[in-house]
Amino acid sequence: MSALIIGNWKSNGSKETNKLWIKDFFKHIKDDAESISAICPPYVYLNQIVDLCKRSNIKIGSQDIDFSQGARTGSISAKACKDLGCNFSIIGHSERREFFKEDNLDIRKKLICAQDNNLKIVMCIGEPIEVYDSGTTKEFLKKQLIDSIDGLDLFNDFTIAYEPIWAIGSGKLPSSEEINVIHLYIKDIVQSASKNNFTPKVIYGGSVSSKNAEDLFKEDHIDGALIGGASLNGKEFANIANIYINRGH
Ligand code: PEP
Repeated sequence: MSALIIGNWKSNGSKETNKLWIKDFFKHIKDDAESISAICPPYVYLNQIVDLCKRSNIKIGSQDIDFSQGARTGSISAKACKDLGCNFSIIGHSERREFFKEDNLDIRKKLICAQDNNLKIVMCIGEPIEVYDSGTTKEFLKKQLIDSIDGLDLFNDFTIAYEPIWAIGSGKLPSSEEINVIHLYIKDIVQSASKNNFTPKVIYGGSVSSKNAEDLFKEDHIDGALIGGASLNGKEFANIANIYINRGH
C-alpha cells in the first residue's frame, strides 16, 4: 500500500515534541488508516522516528534527496535515506524550487537516482498565483511534468503531489472540483509521457485540514493529501487520515 496521507514536518520538531506527536497520533489513528499514513521529519530525526514507529504500519519518508552521492558536502543521498529506513522521499517541493533554486531537470535527476536505489518518490508540482489567475495552470504543469518524466520508465508507486504554490500555508485553495479536473489531467500527461504508460496516484497539497478533508476526498481523482502545517499536530493529522479511510469511494 502506498503512502497517501503524508505529513511534511519541514524544519520543525525536537526530540521531546516528536515523542508527544507520536503518542497523540497513535492514540487517535484508526487501524486501517495507519498503513496509508506517512510522515517526513527533518533528516536529523529520521532515526528517532523510525525507532518510535517500528511496531506500527505508518511509513517514514525524507523531505528531499540529492541527485548524487560522494563529494556533495551537506547533502543527503537516496542510498542513505533508504539505509535509515525511509520508504520514500518527496522531491520537487516548491520551497526547494524557490529557496534552493532547483529546476525541473534537477528533479528529473533525483527521480532517476531514487528509482535506481529502489526508493519510492512523491514528486511535487504546482503553479504560482499569476499562472493560476491567467488561466494557464495546465500548460505550466505540463512543462514541469514533461521536463521531469518524459521518456522515463516509472514504477515503485510513483506519486505526484499537486500543490498550487499560492495554496501552501495560506488557508486558500482551489475548489475540490477544480483540483479533481487538474488531477485527471496530470494522470493523462504522465501516462502519455512515461515510457511504460504509467498512471500515478495524484495527491493534493495546500492548506489541507480536518475541516476541508471530507470535501476534498469525495472527489474520484484526489487520491490523498500532502500536509504541511496541519501535520504538526498528531491528533489533527490522524483525523485527516481517518477521514480519508471513511470517504465513500
Ligand atoms: C506543503 O508545504 O507541502 C503544504 C501542503 O503546506 P500546508 O499544508 O501548510 O499548506
